Amino acid sequence: MPHFAVVGSGPSGVYTAQGLLSQDRVPGLRVDVLDRLPCPYGLVRYGVAPDHEKIKSLQSTLRAVLEEERVRFLGGVEVGPALPPERLLGLYHGVVYCVGAAAARRLGIPGEDLPGSWSATDFVAWYSAHPDAVDAGFVRDVRAAVVIGVGNVAVDVARMLARGRAELTPTDMPQAALATLTGSGVRDVFVVGRRGPSQARFTTKELRELGTLPDTDVVVDERELALDPGYADPSALPSATRRTIEVLRDWAARPGTGAGRRIHLRFFLRPVEITGRRGRVAGVRLERTRPDGDGGVRGTGGYEEIGAQLVLRSVGYRGMPPDGLPFDPVRGTVPHDAGRVLRGGRPAPGEYVAGWIKRGPTGVIGTNRSCAKETVASLLADAPGLLGRDLDGDPLDGLRAAGLHPVDWAGWRAIERAEAELGRTLGRDTVKIPDWHGLLSAAHGI
Ligand SMILES: Cc1cc2nc3c(=O)[nH]c(=O)nc-3n(C[C@H](O)[C@H](O)[C@H](O)COP(=O)(O)OP(=O)(O)OC[C@H]3O[C@@H](n4cnc5c(N)ncnc54)[C@H](O)[C@@H]3O)c2cc1C
Repeated sequence: MPHFAVVGSGPSGVYTAQGLLSQDRVPGLRVDVLDRLPCPYGLVRYGVAPDHEKIKSLQSTLRAVLEEERVRFLGGVEVGPALPPERLLGLYHGVVYCVGAAAARRLGIPGEDLPGSWSATDFVAWYSAHPDAVDAGFVRDVRAAVVIGVGNVAVDVARMLARGRAELTPTDMPQAALATLTGSGVRDVFVVGRRGPSQARFTTKELRELGTLPDTDVVVDERELALDPGYADPSALPSATRRTIEVLRDWAARPGTGAGRRIHLRFFLRPVEITGRRGRVAGVRLERTRPDGDGGVRGTGGYEEIGAQLVLRSVGYRGMPPDGLPFDPVRGTVPHDAGRVLRGGRPAPGEYVAGWIKRGPTGVIGTNRSCAKETVASLLADAPGLLGRDLDGDPLDGLRAAGLHPVDWAGWRAIERAEAELGRTLGRDTVKIPDWHGLLSAAHGI
């Protein structure tokens, strides 16, 4: 029986499984979807902001694939020291790595490791109940926060800092994060980018949402926008960027309403140091920049400091594939040719990649579908060569022999029930379980 493994149950893993099932070149093909976490869906569960229910609801589409008869979800299975890629490949006819790229890039400036300076990834993991997350207090005793970066994740974290109890309580956010966020004294959130608004990476839709937050003013300085040549003359900009500029122009013209919270969108500021006082973050020192006429920016030698007790760095993601897979440290991805993993520049038989670990952290969730499609096409083209080998029984026995105790679909369903029950006891809807012990106890009915 043809049997393949997909490592990672985020969008790219699930779309890969779906692609493998919906073809008819390899009849009877079976897929095991492995994940190091006991819960499926990758960043749809542990990255997409809890107040974005519509996008979160994509989980039900992914669920339908994982519930197909020829698919087995095996959570709590990490490809790593106990199960290196070589051993895994011995258990299956082929393996597709869809392990994402969820490690945070660093800024490489002094003060980055001061208490109070965290990657947005750490903050997102905490409010998303990722079991590896650390409760670092984040917003305790914080009045002002700086978010470094102008992508959608930066906008997500700024929004979460500004949201109030009424909006956060209906989400599935873990109870401790809800209590901390809704009890916070954060008044000012500064979102800073080193380039201008026409080069910002957030989408207009995400940006616009900031203007709808209750009791929150969005503050934009027209003089900063005007430094961008695309502000005075947006005609040459792509239409999406033009819309973004219009949203910002509108905010710049609006007087403040005296709301309880302010989100300041700042441009042409390059962070040079995260400053500290008494061993904690005290602010960010930034150099003002100007367009260099070539699409980039150059420093002006003028500086300013924004005082803040919390700094969230949101400057991108990079892959961290398991040891034993080739890795391109510059791109932060696994080298590949149309999804075929390259070892020493040649396709490694039976090994494939899809999703963020293949193409880097770009695009929306749907982008992973076409990415997975390409990989599946490569695998199917190679299938005659891969299927020549008889497997040594059910791969699950091989995983158990490696000392692993997978959480199966029934185990995941038990976690879902436990989260619904937790929500009921707290007077909320479903509330996520944020720790390994709680998840595994629920999964194994302990
Ligand atoms: C904070 C954040 C918010 C986002 N919000 C949106 C949004 O609102 N809308 C949108 O369209 N896109 C959003 N995205 C982008 C979207 O989440 C990604 O496009 C998508 O999740 C990438 O899918 P993936 O399957 O490649 O990786 P992931 O979703 O990261 O899935 C990777 C999976 O692999 C597992 N894994 C990793 N290593 C191993 C291992 N060694 N062994 C076994 N399993 C392993 C992980 O546990 C994880 O489940 C967001 C991204 C982030 C970071």
